[in-house]
Amino acid sequence: MNIYADFTETKSTILLVDDEKINLKVLSNLLKDDYVLKLAIKGEQALKLAQEAPIPDLIILDVLMPEMDGYQVIKLLKANEITRNIPVIFVTALNGSADEEQGLKLGAVDYITKPYSQSIVKIRVRNHLLFIRQFKLFENYSYIDGLTGIPNRRRFEEYFAQEFKRILRSQGVLSLAMLDIDYFKQYNDYYGHAAGDKALQQVAKLLQKNLKRSTDLVARYGGEEFVLVLPDTSDEQAVEIAHQILLDLSTLNIAHEFSSVAQHITLSIGIISCQPTNQINRNALLKQADQNLYSAKAAGRNRIIASQT
Ligand code: GH3
Ligand code: MG
Ligand code: MG
Repeated sequence: MNIYADFTETKSTILLVDDEKINLKVLSNLLKDDYVLKLAIKGEQALKLAQEAPIPDLIILDVLMPEMDGYQVIKLLKANEITRNIPVIFVTALNGSADEEQGLKLGAVDYITKPYSQSIVKIRVRNHLLFIRQFKLFENYSYIDGLTGIPNRRRFEEYFAQEFKRILRSQGVLSLAMLDIDYFKQYNDYYGHAAGDKALQQVAKLLQKNLKRSTDLVARYGGEEFVLVLPDTSDEQAVEIAHQILLDLSTLNIAHEFSSVAQHITLSIGIISCQPTNQINRNALLKQADQNLYSAKAAGRNRIIASQT
């Protein structure tokens, strides 16, 4: 993949923070053709804009500001989950090395002193954004399962935690489904490991196709086990999705002569639904979904068992 080509496709967003309007104007004239800009003249305003969509890819922050200075702003940015990873460049008239050291120690990626050369600021901004793109690309790869191309367990853990918290705040409902291929050991034993890999890819694709909302997530939990995170989805809706999956799987009809439950590959599915509260533990939910999956296996496989907490 050419990251340089990618770089020109969508414009990065930069948040400029300076209490002096003239400084903001100079910087925005310098950067406005290449980036989407958000401007703030106060620390508090900057913190607000940093959390609002589009979340900035980079923040250029003045140090000396009344009320809340740049050092305080960066501390608060770093303390907030949403803004923690946004790189910050200080642009400031403070040019002592102690000031620079403090800025960098607080987590800034760069420190530019005024007066600055406009072309150098432009290049440094570009370099930092390029680095961020590369980093995001790398991060993205480490969230994806190599065999099936769907999100991996690591991504699931993060996403589940994030959505659980979000739904706790919005007082909505959430469903979680664990899915496991039936008699997959036999499939591997008789058709071979390569055929097993291909079947896993087909099942992953089918699962992904059955998720309709942008907030739904399917991940490979491990081996021949998959997991679905279904935010704002009731138990009835989750069961409906699971039924459709089993139906589509029987239509897809991946031959499995050595299965004791059907002539084709099937899944057992355990579902748990809840309205998140502070008393509900995420791991306990996962465990409950797994127990329901185990019950579905024990009850004969190729079926769904769902419950609510
Ligand atoms: P059950 O119906 O109770 O779920 O039985 P099972 O045979 O599906 O379950 P078991 O846990 O005994 O076996 C899982 C098999 O999945 C064993 C392993 O070889 C296979 N498997 C796990 N990961 C992969 C993979 O990446 N590729 C292939 N081809 N097979 C895998
Ligand atoms: Mg299995
Ligand atoms: Mg298994």
